[in-house]
Amino acid sequence: MIEFKNVEKYYGKFHALKNINIKFEQGELITIIGPSGSGKSTLLRCINGLEKITEGDLMVLGENIADPDTDIRQVRQEMGMLFQHFELYPHLTVLENVTLAPVKVRGLSQKEADAEAEQFLTRVNMWDRKDSKPSQLSGGQQQRVAIARGMAMRPKAMLFDEPTSALDPETIGDVLDVMKDIAEKDKMTMIVVTHEMGFAREVADRTVFMKDGEILEDRESEAFFTSPNDPNAKRFIEQIF
Ligand code: ATP
Ligand code: MG
Repeated sequence: MIEFKNVEKYYGKFHALKNINIKFEQGELITIIGPSGSGKSTLLRCINGLEKITEGDLMVLGENIADPDTDIRQVRQEMGMLFQHFELYPHLTVLENVTLAPVKVRGLSQKEADAEAEQFLTRVNMWDRKDSKPSQLSGGQQQRVAIARGMAMRPKAMLFDEPTSALDPETIGDVLDVMKDIAEKDKMTMIVVTHEMGFAREVADRTVFMKDGEILEDRESEAFFTSPNDPNAKRFIEQIF
């Protein structure tokens, strides 16, 4: 569903992604780990067209993103993306946040959108807060609403860039549980940049390790964490555990 072929990305003269070759299959949950500045966010941002690749091919949902004729907006609509900082609309209620795009973009009636939002908000345990404003919620609660909002667009894949990094420790688990539930029940394709090694090890099918713009290891998660092949990866996970 997503494939990088010999992808290079430069920011001016800075070489941010180096010869990236990787494939993400439908229904997989992949975590991307690695030190700060290794290119994790850049990789995600290329997938939904927030950054342009400099060289190579990048297939997303059957379209080559590198081709100037590709309608990036179309591709982007089919990719949910969640960032570290909760980006809910502050002036709207929880329910309005979730129903806005389904009504405006997917063309649902307000009633249909409300009914779908009830399902998604129930799944993230936020239906009872549907009338709250984001400022009245904890970071973890806001992030769960953001996940429901992403799901309400019925995306084909969801990209997460450090979704729990800005959260208080006690709310991290709730967000990870919701992500795990979506991966298991919906078989949603998920690419997750994270520092949560427990989540990577236990929930992800594969773990990808990046350093200095390169993918140094890409393996089944349990095998990766038990015996990483790459010495940099080994050092990185030893530091964290
Ligand atoms: P972190 O763990 O800190 O989020 P990361 O692995 O996500 O790091 P990226 O944000 O992808 O790393 O950045 C990779 C490199 O590219 C960094 O050295 C960064 O300074 C550089 N970079 C990122 N965005 C830009 C930009 N818009 N212009 C110039 N350089 C950039
Ligand atoms: Mg980043």
